[in-house]
Amino acid sequence: MNILAIESSCDETSAAIFTNGKIASNVIATQLIHSQYGGVVPELASRAHQQHILPVVDKALKDAKVTKNDLDAIAFTKGPGLLGALLVGTSFAKAMALALNIPLIEVNHMQAHVLAHFIDDPKPSFPFLCLTVSGGHTQIVKVTGPLEMEIIGETKDDAVGEAFDKTAKLLDLPYPGGPLIDKYAKLGNSAAFLFPLPEMPGLDFSFSGIKTSILYFLQKQVRENPDFIRDNLHDICASVQYTLIDILLKKLKKAARETGITEIAIAGGVSANSGLRQALSGLGEKLNWNIYIPHFEYCTDNAAMIAIAGYYKYVNNDFCDQTVSPMARMAF
Ligand code: ATP
Ligand code: MG
Ligand code: FE
Repeated sequence: MNILAIESSCDETSAAIFTNGKIASNVIATQLIHSQYGGVVPELASRAHQQHILPVVDKALKDAKVTKNDLDAIAFTKGPGLLGALLVGTSFAKAMALALNIPLIEVNHMQAHVLAHFIDDPKPSFPFLCLTVSGGHTQIVKVTGPLEMEIIGETKDDAVGEAFDKTAKLLDLPYPGGPLIDKYAKLGNSAAFLFPLPEMPGLDFSFSGIKTSILYFLQKQVRENPDFIRDNLHDICASVQYTLIDILLKKLKKAARETGITEIAIAGGVSANSGLRQALSGLGEKLNWNIYIPHFEYCTDNAAMIAIAGYYKYVNNDFCDQTVSPMARMAF
């Protein structure tokens, strides 16, 4: 059985082939054009998807050594994401499924981030909690089956990935700044500067306040010393990263305590963060959790995770028809 999966929700054009129980190829074209604008420009993203989608799908087929006539179904990201970007992948998938007369499978991008854990071993057992941390979302998800999940906590304003990227912008680092903050944080003192923690009830998050306090802090320091950022870059990155991780893990601990679940996973682009990975591993040892951290290539956007989600829907006979259209916002 061969499934082609297509991901185009943001600034990665990706295609993957799932063959006989495993991922046979996963091709990702990252759009570098956005770095000069300090963030993803939706119109440019759509155009870049248009340029990349055919060569990316072609390469995914070749890498997996299958032809389009070997395909049994096509899975695609229906949402959430940038509408114009999603339209490219959705239209491509619909046209190809129609031409080949094979079923079409719609996939929720945030569910797919969670299901990235089912690409390789070890796989978490049900029920597990997944802290999904990405450019647009921050969620604690209770997962009771491959396609049965419930959001039990989420951000009420910015995503943690946004907090990383916007801090990086204040520090004059190029987009996406998350990986650079991670890199510089390793060289700095995480206790150098203190930022106030948000007070959010329950399992929900807030990251807009911390972003503002970082802004005010930097403005004040730069008034006193114009070279403050340059002189303290590593300590600033380490302190900000420490604070963001602290916010995430406090809520994750609370969720584990309240649900009694000790199978704990992280997913999404920010799960590539080395500080978060390290802190989570430490916490897991202390609290006797089984920790699941995806391979780097399956943290940020990729079609392999769409393919795995597509596979679970395929075995459930969960197909959609040609009237399907993408959704910028989409619940589970
Ligand atoms: P969503 O999945 O919510 O629609 P997205 O697809 O844009 O958003 P991902 O591709 O999953 O998000 O993740 C991108 C985010 O991950 C960016 O904010 C980026 O800065 C962040 N990120 C990637 N690597 C790291 C890292 N090492 N440390 C911190 N943040 C990181
Ligand atoms: Mg991206
Ligand atoms: Fe994503």
